[in-house]
Amino acid sequence: MIKRPKGTQDIIPGVIEKWHFIEEQIKKICSEFGYQEIRTPIFEYTELFQRGVGESTDIVNKEMYTFWDKGNRSITLRPEGTASVCRAYVENKLHGSPKPLKLYYLGPMFRYENTQAGRYRQFHQFGCEVLGSDDPLVDAEVISLVWELFRRLSLKYLEVHINSVGCQTCRAEYRKLLQVFLEERRNKLCRDCQSRFERNPMRILDCKNTNCQSLTTDAPTTLQNLCEECQEHFNRVLALLTASNIPYKINPRMVRGLDYYQKTAFEIMAEGIGAQSAICGGGRYDRLVEEIGGPSTPGIGFAVGIERIIALLENQNTNIATTKEIKVLVAAIGENPKIEGFKLLTQLRQCGISALMDLTGRGLKGQMKYADREKIRYVLILGDDELAEDVVTVKDMILGEQEKIPMDSIIKYMRNEIDKTSCSD
Ligand code: AMP
Repeated sequence: MIKRPKGTQDIIPGVIEKWHFIEEQIKKICSEFGYQEIRTPIFEYTELFQRGVGESTDIVNKEMYTFWDKGNRSITLRPEGTASVCRAYVENKLHGSPKPLKLYYLGPMFRYENTQAGRYRQFHQFGCEVLGSDDPLVDAEVISLVWELFRRLSLKYLEVHINSVGCQTCRAEYRKLLQVFLEERRNKLCRDCQSRFERNPMRILDCKNTNCQSLTTDAPTTLQNLCEECQEHFNRVLALLTASNIPYKINPRMVRGLDYYQKTAFEIMAEGIGAQSAICGGGRYDRLVEEIGGPSTPGIGFAVGIERIIALLENQNTNIATTKEIKVLVAAIGENPKIEGFKLLTQLRQCGISALMDLTGRGLKGQMKYADREKIRYVLILGDDELAEDVVTVKDMILGEQEKIPMDSIIKYMRNEIDKTSCSD
């Protein structure tokens, strides 16, 4: 048997309802906060991610699904959403629209990672990007959007970790300080960190290796070395989070993996889903749009992993109400009744009444059982007797009552019944 590729998942009926619920909540909240959806291609030219994510990141170095297409172009399945959104912003000249532009996306991302619980090779992200404002209000707004989403999904035990990684100016200074600190510990770091020393020394602070962590406990932090502007920005963001009742924890070691972050960086961590506890990561990237050829434009965004939300909902036993949509089963018995039944089914559907017909040749008893199992309230029975009388027998599965309704008024009757009972369903 051919199996699905490692690190991918089938989202099958029974689980998809959770996805739909989360996606609906996302769309609703984004529209309430004034964010518009953007859909970009699932593959892009590789260069976009090399420039937009950064050559020194794990994503670009180790994790991209890159291939040559038949026209000899290097193509990459998108490993994240921000670079594509910024490319689309520049390419479609969205910088002409009123500022800031508030966008969101939802879709699959691809990273060739070591798979484990909560870490996949194809996974799904919901993300927001706000382009065109460097006001700390925007930092607070994006965090409050995702915080509110998690509140509506009834997720518990979450913690916002926040840091400022400084700007081009103060970070350059900080990088030197950090390298001086790391120099004498360099040989004791893990192999990955040794190669990060030149390329991206800040990532060493983020290393999960416990030895690297203890070697860097006393390392200088960006927070101790912020310039005045970055410090003021950070203070404002924290004040706004406090004003909106969002609990946060300052985490000076959280530097995030991507090269383009500046000033605010944040993650939201969850308890109870194992090692992969980050469910949201984001930050400000005031130079990214310029980096990929656009006008200088400040930006900030985040991405949330949908699989991790689902894991958390399951871990916290949060029930998601999945309403059964089907109201009517047309139970036609016999050849002629089936033709009349199919006609009735079509009319019901044209009137927007959700209805099914048995497609496997079950008898009346079997169809009743089916309706019961699927929680379909009304069964419309149509046999040779009903045809002769030009009626339909309507059985209400909840009340256990049945009555004959003339064929020419059945649609009107069903509409009334459904309106009457839909509140009590
Ligand atoms: P990142 O783009 O790495 O900042 O990730 C943002 C969020 O996407 C994380 O907080 C996770 O929730 C989710 N995520 C990232 N990588 C994976 C993965 N390989 N599998 C599942 N979820 C992921």
